[in-house]
Amino acid sequence: MSTTGCTLPEVLRRYYLDTMGIRVWQQREPAAVQPDVHSAHAGARMMDSTGIDAAPATGQRSVADDRAPDWQRLEQAVASCTKCELHRSRTQTVFGTGDRHAELLIIGEAPGRDEDLQGEPFVGRAGQLLNAMLLAIGFRREQVYIANILKCRPPNNRDPGVEEAAACNPFLQAQIELIQPRVILALGRIAAHNLLNTDEKVGALRARQHSYAGVPLIVSYHPAYLLRSPLEKRKAWQDLKAVMALLK
Ligand code: URA
Repeated sequence: MSTTGCTLPEVLRRYYLDTMGIRVWQQREPAAVQPDVHSAHAGARMMDSTGIDAAPATGQRSVADDRAPDWQRLEQAVASCTKCELHRSRTQTVFGTGDRHAELLIIGEAPGRDEDLQGEPFVGRAGQLLNAMLLAIGFRREQVYIANILKCRPPNNRDPGVEEAAACNPFLQAQIELIQPRVILALGRIAAHNLLNTDEKVGALRARQHSYAGVPLIVSYHPAYLLRSPLEKRKAWQDLKAVMALLK
């Protein structure tokens, strides 16, 4: 089970913040996002086109992984999916990775070239920055769950099409039902727009707390954008602190 960052030695935290390009004094700034939504998990059973019948999200966490068969069926459904044209060009599907009981669910856009080759989300340069961001708030990558809006790589890393995102959405829904995260962190425009059904800019969306399927959701910049715009890392750090505030 994931824990908060309280026990991370200060020297390590400084190193990770440094990697993110953030000076340590910035930690004292108050979180940018004030929680204003207190929704409970949606409790409805879900039987959808994934073929997965996930148990209700009750907020209770069982120690035994009694959902392993559901996970297995979902993984198989994703691996053999041909619901959109992306199945023709993919090397493999990119299901998601991490702790299936994670408190924090990270949702990105879609696999890129590295992810398509390795079958795991966020393994390229953006993934390395994401790892550093997570470590800065006390999580190893394996302690959160990382998924994408799409399970297949769009050719030439183009934006996901509307139909592609719609075809893939039941898989992500099923993952959320199975994980029952306490907080969702949506990284970048594509994730935020698809999850929140809006076209507002990330800069505006990150300033407040949202809710997805009853789960508190924070929007932040995509790590690939942060690599191109390192000055924005300060704002991303504010967002990470907002995530931590929700998890405490
Ligand atoms: N960018 C994403 O949004 N997801 C990945 O898995 C990799 C890069």
